Amino acid sequence: MAEREFKLYDTMTRQVRPLQPLEPGHLKFYTCGPTVYSYAHIGNFRSFLAADLVARTARALGWRVSWVTNITDVGHLTQDDVADAGGEDRMEKALKSKEGERFANVWDLAEFYTRAYLEDWARLNLSEPTVRPKATQHVREQILMALALVERGNAYETPTGVYFDVESQPDYGKLSGNTRDKLQEAVRDVVLDENKRRQADFALWKKDDKHLMQWFSPWGWGFPGWHIECSAMARAYLGDTIDLHSGGEDNAFPHHECEIAQSEAFTGKPFANHWMHVRFLQVEGEKMAKSAGNFFTVRDLIGEGFDPIALRYALISVPYGKPMNFTIQLLRDAEGNVGRFREARRRAAGSALLPSSSGAAPPADAGGDSGAELAANLDRIYDEALEAMCHDLNTSVAIAKALEGVKAVLREPSLDGSMGEAAVRFLDQVEALLGICPVERDDAGACETALIDGRAIESWIDERTAAKSAKDFARADAIREKLASEGIELRDSPEGTTWSRKPKL
Ligand code: AMP
Ligand code: ZN
Repeated sequence: MAEREFKLYDTMTRQVRPLQPLEPGHLKFYTCGPTVYSYAHIGNFRSFLAADLVARTARALGWRVSWVTNITDVGHLTQDDVADAGGEDRMEKALKSKEGERFANVWDLAEFYTRAYLEDWARLNLSEPTVRPKATQHVREQILMALALVERGNAYETPTGVYFDVESQPDYGKLSGNTRDKLQEAVRDVVLDENKRRQADFALWKKDDKHLMQWFSPWGWGFPGWHIECSAMARAYLGDTIDLHSGGEDNAFPHHECEIAQSEAFTGKPFANHWMHVRFLQVEGEKMAKSAGNFFTVRDLIGEGFDPIALRYALISVPYGKPMNFTIQLLRDAEGNVGRFREARRRAAGSALLPSSSGAAPPADAGGDSGAELAANLDRIYDEALEAMCHDLNTSVAIAKALEGVKAVLREPSLDGSMGEAAVRFLDQVEALLGICPVERDDAGACETALIDGRAIESWIDERTAAKSAKDFARADAIREKLASEGIELRDSPEGTTWSRKPKL
């Protein structure tokens, strides 16, 4: 049988084409992670979920997947859409803000939001990457790369930093179309640094001995530019050429363009063979903005009582390359469908190992023909779901197929013997591929109960304390009630808040 192809739209060649790992059957994949200056919002998670679905589909094909997704904890400036970013470091700015007051320092802030991100990642049932490096753990590699680029004449030092010379890479702009001749428009209003050769030259290193996160380099104290971190981390874990690189659509320019220029100038080899960009999520028809009141973090929605698996289901329901408008109604509809998966799980899990008639020992072919029939039907449906995922992650078709299978399971009046086994196998396959029907640890509660561990509780408590000091008592009460609904009791005292688990009745 011919191997199934896994096709994805490639931003570089502007076509849907097969993903072809350099080492057959082993995908080397890099995804740009979040800047941990605040809670990640559901738009960020649309991008991470698309990457998770790539990894899941590749694994379903039997590939080995080396998936690196980083944590940006330094160097990402506020004005990041221009050719050479300007403005303040996002981490420093967050520390100076009202929310930043509760942190001892910028490291503490980074640690807090990294933990929150990992909790949200687990709640939304994303699979674990192979490695999750932090930019601050790889400053040495970034400095060495910048140094080599200076030595080779691709970069130069000025009194303010080290800049990559875009003229030195003739194909600069090949990903985004912002080629050197068109760059005037792309650089727009960037502040002109008279020490730079060209406005579009971008920083590999910023000299700054006042910066809160600083390292010593051949150019004195300072911090790395944002783009160099991904080039350095991708190479450190995946080698000179990777098979696939992903991010949100805003990453294509300047971030990924700059990554390509640096990496290719450094190694003399292609950086990534396939580029994937996720369309931005809109909420209730608008760009997400705190001022528009449509800015949702994962924990906002879970805190309001929505099922995290339904949130995942809603966020992946529209294929990543299409514009997506998130609405609360979409989330409610997703809850209904996720309920069907849960119901099928409950019925199948309870019956898969039972004999087909009560009391009697199970016959060898328990379930008989109807079991084989259901199994064949579910195998076909799963195969169609996988086929849809292999066609540029067509999640809307794949989810429709998964629902078709679940309806077939729920139509069976009983799921004894091999019928139950076929149903469990199907649900496990759908879970591995789409992550929308995890096994619940106890029948009574949603998977959230299983995930609410001590770290998660403490971060909810931190959030409640912050809400109280900001006089947002409604939010503080909502958090207390949410935890109570999970069986967690809070006790406030002048020393702070402690928690305990209520015994289950
Ligand atoms: P950041 O934390 O800003 O570095 O963003 C993390 C990832 O989320 C990047 O890949 C962004 O491109 C992506 N992203 C940001 N906003 C959205 C959005 N509204 N929809 C989809 N992806 C987004
Ligand atoms: Zn990146």
